[in-house]
Amino acid sequence: MGPSFSLGASMSSLLRNDLDVLPPLGTLARGEPIQVFAAPPGTPAKPQIARAMGIEMWDTAGNRYLDASSGPVACNLGYGNRRVLDALTSQAEAAAFANVSHFESKANRDFAERLAEAAGPGYERVFVVSGGSEANEAALKLARQIALSRGEASRWKVISRQPSYHGGTLGALAITGDPSAHAMFGPMLQEMPKVPAPVTYRIPAGLDEENWALKCAQDLEDRVVAEGPESVLAFIQEPVGGVSTGALVTPAAYMTRVREICDKYGILLIHDEVMSGGGRTGAFLSHDHWPDCRADLIVMAKGIGAGYLPLGLVLAPRDLVETVASGGGFLHGHTALGNPLSCAVGLAVLEETLERGLVERSAVLGAELKTRLWDMANRYPIIGDVRGKGLLMAVEFVADPATKRPFPIEAAVPAAVSRIAMQNGLILYTRGTNAGRDGDWVMVSPPLVTSDRELDEITDRLEKSLSQAEAEFS
Ligand code: PLP
Repeated sequence: MGPSFSLGASMSSLLRNDLDVLPPLGTLARGEPIQVFAAPPGTPAKPQIARAMGIEMWDTAGNRYLDASSGPVACNLGYGNRRVLDALTSQAEAAAFANVSHFESKANRDFAERLAEAAGPGYERVFVVSGGSEANEAALKLARQIALSRGEASRWKVISRQPSYHGGTLGALAITGDPSAHAMFGPMLQEMPKVPAPVTYRIPAGLDEENWALKCAQDLEDRVVAEGPESVLAFIQEPVGGVSTGALVTPAAYMTRVREICDKYGILLIHDEVMSGGGRTGAFLSHDHWPDCRADLIVMAKGIGAGYLPLGLVLAPRDLVETVASGGGFLHGHTALGNPLSCAVGLAVLEETLERGLVERSAVLGAELKTRLWDMANRYPIIGDVRGKGLLMAVEFVADPATKRPFPIEAAVPAAVSRIAMQNGLILYTRGTNAGRDGDWVMVSPPLVTSDRELDEITDRLEKSLSQAEAEFS
């Protein structure tokens, strides 16, 4: 007998109970975006964006902001880039959409070719999706299908670092090192093993950075052995971290050992370059800073679409993809796969980035920004650390720089600093609700197109905001 869709007595009372917990209908805002509707009571209204150009943004009240965080560290080219807008409109006029199961698209092919070229030898295949979480999901499924094609069906566990961030969808969340998210969603996830990230600011007493990094790498090997190496599919890490670690730059000794461990046990190494890839760290791929730690799969998003359209991708070596192809093909699909508009945007962003030398610009500007931030750290004891590479940079706040003691979580210092900065017309990026769990930081990661004069204005506004924050918290 097929399923019955009539509601039994117990089911209809269950539905009524569910409705009882919702606010009375009259109090429900109608026609509001969910992020407004679902915000906790007392959340201040945000200014409404009117327009944006370069690294400047204006709200509908006429206030001007400088975007010192590239939105969520995504808008590498700033706003209103003519080449990107032209590419977007001409692709939209030509063919806004073409289903990958019916057509190949030139935009998809051109983008993949150019991206693989920029990535350098060893990464010839590009699988285009529509964001970072989705790209991580695709990488996990590709890794699993690579193992299956090799006859290694026992491999399925993906080890990751604590803390880390790999996305908000359930698969990506399972590999994300964030206990507060796991406390909430744990029962809905396939929990995956975590190992400590080789953090560089609070190193255990008696160890230097290299010894501590090597100890963290040993933790990874011990975990692989404890889990059973034949069950471990992949290890995923952010070479330069994002908001989960405040731009942690992975120590070189750790990277070298990680590659050795993955090779020793036949584990795939995945680099999550969602925030760090595409030129932001002063190299096109952030893992290029560690030539002896090449990943098997690379995940990118954010900067490669530069915020103009949703875009994410997985980069893979030809031979690994061919293994899957000969085993029946990659079983993974989305409506937005290889989307022509996203690909046209991605190609224009890539050309603009390379032709204007923005990868090199990111290295130069990032070095200057880091010098200025350390100079501020010497004058404002609220700054405990400055970390990052290129224009992927973060500032960590502490109650006491001598002991590196953080502020109490309830003080929500990063949120307060970004609020003060916004009042001063400066946009910074920080975590949402779990701020303070591993430390307090804000990302200072302006677009790669930032001019010298704009950098001066950013640092002036940041300094003003820090002095106000210091007065508030000391
Ligand atoms: N991975 C990293 C390192 C990220 O920083 C993010 C987003 O911040 C993601 C994955 C998820 O990307 P998305 O928000 O595009 O889904």
